[in-house]
Amino acid sequence: MSIAPSATVAINNLAKEKKRLGIPIVNFAAGDPILPVHPSVERGIMAGLQRHSLPYPPVEGLLELCRQAVRWLNRKHGCSFELDNAMVTCGGKFAIFAALQALLDEGDEVIIPAPYWVSYPSMVQLFGGVAVIVETTAEMHWKISPEQLKAHFSSRTKALIFNNPCNPTGVYYTAKEVSALMAFAKEHGILVIADEVYSDLIYEPVSFASCGAIENPDNGLVIQSCSKNFGMAGSRVGFAFGPSELIKKMITLQSQSTTGTSLISQWAALGALENADEVNAYVKKAMRKRRDLFVQTFNALFPKPVTAPPAAIYAWVSMDHFGCKGKDSVAFCREVLEKAHVAIVPGAAFGKEGYVRFAFSEKEEDIVKGLQNISRLK
Ligand code: PLP
Repeated sequence: MSIAPSATVAINNLAKEKKRLGIPIVNFAAGDPILPVHPSVERGIMAGLQRHSLPYPPVEGLLELCRQAVRWLNRKHGCSFELDNAMVTCGGKFAIFAALQALLDEGDEVIIPAPYWVSYPSMVQLFGGVAVIVETTAEMHWKISPEQLKAHFSSRTKALIFNNPCNPTGVYYTAKEVSALMAFAKEHGILVIADEVYSDLIYEPVSFASCGAIENPDNGLVIQSCSKNFGMAGSRVGFAFGPSELIKKMITLQSQSTTGTSLISQWAALGALENADEVNAYVKKAMRKRRDLFVQTFNALFPKPVTAPPAAIYAWVSMDHFGCKGKDSVAFCREVLEKAHVAIVPGAAFGKEGYVRFAFSEKEEDIVKGLQNISRLK
């Protein structure tokens, strides 16, 4: 079984290797909201350590953490999950991985709107599935419609991976759009794997529309994470919320693979969730500031302006902005890394040529320096 390495991890590693050799690299590739850890997270870890013991945690996650996570999602996004609808995973990534493994038989199809998060197609293929890629465009505001779902649906369609807000485009769907997609999926017996790990990083005054808030969402599996909303990617804590039968299967898979996520990380997550709004506000404020700085700096340096992404931590930029004649995003990113010492991710990795992705979650001085370096490229 061959599986391609994650493109973002690969470019990140290349950037790190250059740094190790003493070359100062500005890294826009990682997508990690790098911030001093919030005191609530520290308090969570310290309280856990007072127990003076590090046993195996329950495979499905600490009871108190599952409870807090359910409470948080129900309160914040209007869902109505119960305890048996929830589990803790090693990041949102493993929740998606386990869901696909639990779900797919050889030849089953999974619809994935493009541009997509880099790992989806590889994960589908890993479990014998077929990734059915549905293109979206700037004119469509990078959103799929129920009509497109219909056009790509077949008797083998098992699931739709629906990333809202989207990495890499930074767009989010309205409640009406979410309901329309969920209704089509329900009518045709498709599970919606709703990857909502950027749910609380929307910079416009709207409420996020979760797939889990649709009435009786028995065809929805919500993926959540502490990585982005709470700025703690290194803790590797994610969650899945969905139909109890599917969650049970995923817990069994977890019992035969990771055994669950680290107890110390779960204490950290408990600290974050006990003060979820404040921790999220802290991360969101910093990410909004970095987004605005990115856009302002970009527009001062390049002739064609970008607009501020409405959500998540990425700027999805057409190569036209850099005066590129061709569309080969991999060659462009390689050149930018080699000559400007800046790591960005090629659109090709997200299933769309002619674009590149910047993670604006980096330190403010790096945002300015990185964009200046690229602007000097001849
Ligand atoms: N889903 C999307 C869209 C992402 O961008 C990421 C990480 O970059 C993940 C899931 C996985 O996040 P984690 O495993 O850190 O929770």
